[in-house]
Amino acid sequence: MSRKFQHIPADLFLKCPQCKRILIAKDVEKNFQVCPRCDYHFLLSYKERLQSLVDEGSFVEYDADLLSNDPLQFPQYQEKLATARAKTGLNDAIIYGTASIDSLPCVLIITDFNFMGGSMGWVLGEKVKRAMELAIEKKLPVVLISGSGGGARMQEGIISLMQMAKTAAAVGRLHSAGLPYIVVLTNPTMAGVLASFASLGDVNIAEPGALIGFTGPRVIEQTLKIKLPPDFQSSEFQLKHGFLDLVVHRKELRSIIIRLLRFFLNRNQPREKPLLVQPSLTPEDISLLPEFERPIAEVMLQLDKLEKLAEREKMDRSEEIEELRKRAEELTRKAYQNLTRWERVQVARHPLRPYTLDYAEMIFDDFIELHGDRLMGDDPAIVGGLASLQGETVVFIGHQKGRTTKERRWRNFGSARPEGYHKALRLMKMAEKFGFPVLTFLDTPGAACLTEAEERGIAQAIARNLQEMSKLKTQIIVTVIGEGGSGGAIGIGVGDRLLMQENAYYSVISPESCAAIIWRDSKRAPEAAEALKLTAQDLKNLGVADEIVPEPEGGAHRNWLESARLLKESLLRNLEELKNIPIDELIEKRYEKYNKIR
Ligand SMILES: [Zn+2]
Repeated sequence: MSRKFQHIPADLFLKCPQCKRILIAKDVEKNFQVCPRCDYHFLLSYKERLQSLVDEGSFVEYDADLLSNDPLQFPQYQEKLATARAKTGLNDAIIYGTASIDSLPCVLIITDFNFMGGSMGWVLGEKVKRAMELAIEKKLPVVLISGSGGGARMQEGIISLMQMAKTAAAVGRLHSAGLPYIVVLTNPTMAGVLASFASLGDVNIAEPGALIGFTGPRVIEQTLKIKLPPDFQSSEFQLKHGFLDLVVHRKELRSIIIRLLRFFLNRNQPREKPLLVQPSLTPEDISLLPEFERPIAEVMLQLDKLEKLAEREKMDRSEEIEELRKRAEELTRKAYQNLTRWERVQVARHPLRPYTLDYAEMIFDDFIELHGDRLMGDDPAIVGGLASLQGETVVFIGHQKGRTTKERRWRNFGSARPEGYHKALRLMKMAEKFGFPVLTFLDTPGAACLTEAEERGIAQAIARNLQEMSKLKTQIIVTVIGEGGSGGAIGIGVGDRLLMQENAYYSVISPESCAAIIWRDSKRAPEAAEALKLTAQDLKNLGVADEIVPEPEGGAHRNWLESARLLKESLLRNLEELKNIPIDELIEKRYEKYNKIR
């Protein structure tokens, strides 16, 4: 096996099991017990975990003296237990109790690989269950740090297997009580532990390179007579397949846990971050721009050039600069005065328009993107996570387009697969559990047009979202920020309010496809755009959109920060209104909202 679980000796030097380099023990210690050369995360004992995570002296242990009663009288089990106890100072592979992390109280569970591989017998299962009950009684969040390599404890046989059912049920009660559960999977977490309480977090995190899986890799290799790829059952593998929200370097672990706790407890603190700088226009962009924008762009580029020249030569060119600026403004005003519907579609698709994650950066005081649908994958065409909107936790979900050619392809141009809709629904259910409002941003040309999307039930995924969103017990505000493309858009688009940015469009079909189907000529898209009545104003007139969110003159791409400010203002105002409506009434109104449309 390539990954060894080796503890750091107290010596001066040690060998990294991954890169095989000889390291100075002090350097490794200073580096959070991570190899400074290859990032290998060394195994930590429960003591080291406590030290690196909780506020000093805050941990109060419960049930430290709980002992296994050796239910099967298994050969040599007592001796094994005695050895492990002597080695670790623990009575079994787990500790739990109350603690505070950055002054945020929680129930903390740590399983320790050093004690018989962190395997789960009655004691471990019982303590996990009691930890959940303690959290429910004290109304506290639970943080689990799992290092349970072996899964079930063979020496306790079927009693060990039953702990899976018991612990999963206890986690279920924690969820029903509306309390947060943050899971941190460390190297290694396997088998029965992973297939019960260690997979059921609201948020599942793992340290990089950890071995995480159900069946041990050696068993798979021997059974199937194959050689597994090196990343098989790694944290990164689990993230890619949708089972982890995040892979977090140990350096960042404490601060991520703190931010998550703050989100869940609605005790948000604004995060210091650099102001987002919007990408500036480059000559290469010109060919991507809508035709009516090109003359403006030419002047803007001249202006930019002149400003740089003046700066470099330290000469006063302010008159010329002012003149160009005026000309650009005038051209913009003229072009945007009377946009045709087709032109608006092009503004909605503008390559420099802010996208969902840009707005997340500008609108929220803090945002953590969470990944995975917990079923099979993570779709980069739909992003989502926990955000703080002026101090209040919300769940934020939106389509995401790519900025560069590579990113565009990776995100499938904002066209989501079923995994994207499953992820969105998972996050919405989390919002419902905690009573967090849901904000969704629509910006997609349509759902993924791929055979694999059909194989995995894209229609089913969208249908389920429509049904679940119609009755989700929390406020939902939907905003079209660019393209509202058909079923792919409405798949995260059912809510109490529909806002549309001034230059966004929302349509049952793209104008090109409509023209191609009706007139067998996609070049007649401008005509189709007129006929489809798909602008924000049209939708307002049709009683579909509730509000038009103004954009800066010349479109959102002209001034990102101003665009975000206008959008945030509208979101805050609408949310305030919705929060005054009792939840049952709100859902009834949501039902009626769609019934009225005709
Ligand atoms: Zn190394």
